[in-house]
Amino acid sequence: MPPAARTTGRFAPSPTGPLHAGSLVAALASWLDARAAGGRWLVRIEDVDAPRCVPGVDATILAQLDACGLRPDAPPLWQSTRGEAYQAALDTLVNAGHAYPCGCSRRDIEQALLATGHPRERHAELIYPGTCRDGLQGRPARAWRMRTGACAPIEWIDRRLGPQHQDVAQAVGDFVLRRADGLWAYQLAVVVDDAAQGITDVVRGEDLTDNTARQILLQQALGLRTPRYLHTALVLGPDGEKLSKQNGAAPLDTGEPLACLERAGQVLGLPAVEADTVEGWLHAALPAWAARYPPP
Ligand code: GLU
Repeated sequence: MPPAARTTGRFAPSPTGPLHAGSLVAALASWLDARAAGGRWLVRIEDVDAPRCVPGVDATILAQLDACGLRPDAPPLWQSTRGEAYQAALDTLVNAGHAYPCGCSRRDIEQALLATGHPRERHAELIYPGTCRDGLQGRPARAWRMRTGACAPIEWIDRRLGPQHQDVAQAVGDFVLRRADGLWAYQLAVVVDDAAQGITDVVRGEDLTDNTARQILLQQALGLRTPRYLHTALVLGPDGEKLSKQNGAAPLDTGEPLACLERAGQVLGLPAVEADTVEGWLHAALPAWAARYPPP
């Protein structure tokens, strides 16, 4: 048997705005989880969706993490530098018949769905009707999609939420790997980079749970290890939705890092911790985390 990989966790913020109370929960949880197992903790700046990224916010996020005592063991990885790795993964998928080019515009997809009486929507993302599955029919390729039709339903165990199940073909359909505008899709980038960074434990917000089956499908198709997953509780905004810049999340006030950590600890269900310093707080929170989510 190969030796067990060293526990490695990561925090993977999209630099669309500074950290807020919600994103700190994911950062803290992934840090506590890696450190409680004596493992490594890494940061990845998920700046693939360039039009949504705000210049300079990556540096702000790293400074906010630092103020909260959350320091990665290696320099961060920027997804904007990883195009070659994503292309290599896409080539592998295409060569193995797992991915195919798609010439459809959003309008084409809507019309095809209407024509077959299936105008199904999922988070405003249309379930692809499969028009280009067997060829482009002379049209130029716009996007690249994952072929999901023959995939068995994905089952996995979330360390907080328990057993999970998704039939990707039915729930999501042939999802995009590279978008028509040339940008790499989150699903492909995250899978390639989790593998490249040797991530054994993905700890992130519960809003991302729904993506996990797609990511496991990609790992299987690319012959990559599937990490363990733990999806944390979310901080909700005044509208009951996940706290975000859009519903008024204020940037983390890192002038008061202890107060920030205390609030994040509460969301994670950790008992109150007495500490005068950030380092002291983090150290004292580790046993509580380990008791709740025992290291593997
Ligand atoms: N970049 C994603 C976000 O900020 C997180 C991705 C992940 O943790 O897998 O929502």
